[in-house]
Amino acid sequence: MIESRVEKIAEDIVSVGQLLNRLGLFPATAGNLSCKCDENVIAITASGKHKGELSVDDILLVDFEGNPLQAGPKPSHETLIHTALYQWDASIGAILHTHSVDATVLTRLDPHRNMLKTKNYQLHLVFPGIASPESELLIPIFENDQHIPSLMETALDQFERMEAVYGFLLRGHGLFTWGRDLQEARYRVEALEFIFSCELKLAQMPCLSISSTTS
Ligand SMILES: [Zn+2]
Repeated sequence: MIESRVEKIAEDIVSVGQLLNRLGLFPATAGNLSCKCDENVIAITASGKHKGELSVDDILLVDFEGNPLQAGPKPSHETLIHTALYQWDASIGAILHTHSVDATVLTRLDPHRNMLKTKNYQLHLVFPGIASPESELLIPIFENDQHIPSLMETALDQFERMEAVYGFLLRGHGLFTWGRDLQEARYRVEALEFIFSCELKLAQMPCLSISSTTS
């Protein structure tokens, strides 16, 4: 692993943290950001740090089991969600986890809804495999299980039954999404959070909900 590459990744994570924080997606010390450095090493944000105020020293290196590769600050307990996703799909290069008001409220509106289905958003085109805005985008909603191994067992089982998975929601908690690199993951965060915001507004205005199907 080339040290300068890790430094560049750490700088990029800091920048993405600042960008997404401006959208209000990282209240207090919530959320985490990670990027794959190579086939053995992941760079991830330290626990307990504000994601809009990170420095490169707040980016830790862990292995694919989530074990820290250096002494110092601890990674978040949600690191194991990141490592499980990297193990599940080798094409994932970066993972972002946000805590927005919209995702939190949207997943609490109906405690029995386990899949967000959206239609008729131009931003669907951000997602490869979705050919038109009219095509359906599916985002699974899982219970906010604090036991990460059982949460990820449920999640990966659900993913197996889906044609394409671009991210998932934890009820009352937030969004996980990913991409081949940090930029693609950031675009997906922005697109999904935009859609969540629209869905929430539509839910508050039932007369407008006809053109956007959710179930
Ligand atoms: Zn979280």
